[in-house]
Amino acid sequence: MSLEGKVAVVTGGGSGIGRAIAVRLAKDDAAVAVWDLNGDTAAETAKMITDAGGKAIGLEADCADKAAIKAAADQTRKELGEISILVNNAGMAPFTPYMEITEELWDKVIAVNLKGPHLCIREMLPAMVEAGWGRIINITSSSTQSGSFGQGHYVSSKGGLLGLTKALALEFAPTGVTVNMVPPGFIDTPMLRAAPVDVEAFAQTLPMKRVGQPEDIAAAVAFLASEEAGYMTGQTISMNGGRYMGSA
Ligand code: NAP
Repeated sequence: MSLEGKVAVVTGGGSGIGRAIAVRLAKDDAAVAVWDLNGDTAAETAKMITDAGGKAIGLEADCADKAAIKAAADQTRKELGEISILVNNAGMAPFTPYMEITEELWDKVIAVNLKGPHLCIREMLPAMVEAGWGRIINITSSSTQSGSFGQGHYVSSKGGLLGLTKALALEFAPTGVTVNMVPPGFIDTPMLRAAPVDVEAFAQTLPMKRVGQPEDIAAAVAFLASEEAGYMTGQTISMNGGRYMGSA
């Protein structure tokens, strides 16, 4: 699945799933701009790619900040060219009993997990429409399918992203831009390891008796980014080891 000539932005690409997605898209020949709140980890991912012979840059960008998104997009265009693949992966996933979620925390989670993807899409979509080709891939969460205890803010934000995915898929279907989502199950990343769960014990409750790897999500993203996925929009690839088998 060659993405030769395409430029991809992966938000939150300095860690976990985002890093694996950036590495995979570069392996499929895309030029990749790795964006992260942490400029050092973004640069590390970019170096992993360039050391392997791929094309990448790493940029510090708060993906909930409109001005930072504009600056990083301009830099990406200058160094790599116009952006035709956007992977909205950056996210935060606190655990807070519902009655203890402050207004400030609620707003922050919505800003990073929902408004941030919206702002990135608004920045990049016009050029995709003009080119008649684009791929927007949103990393949602299996928690939108099952609920997640102590994550009212998080599940609401990811549910909003699910809704945005479908609304945009419909509105932009005639343009050549597809909008799809990948809701990960339990994937072994720093985010999962920071969660208040016993990962090994939890893995035994899953149908496959193991958590997933970031590369599992990257494989689904690579397919959605490809030419071969051009007739697919508004859809979900659930990569979750059989945890949830519903349709959305
Ligand atoms: P991770 O290892 O914590 O990586 C997330 C990355 O996003 C970090 O590098 C983080 O930077 C960055 N980030 C956070 N806020 C940002 C912002 N405002 N702007 C730019 N970058 C930002 O987590 P992960 O597990 O790979 O998660 C990736 C995505 O998958 C998230 O959207 C998450 O909700 C989703 N997901 C993960 C799982 C799972 O089991 N791992 C399950 C369902 C969904 P800092 O480290 O500097 O904060």
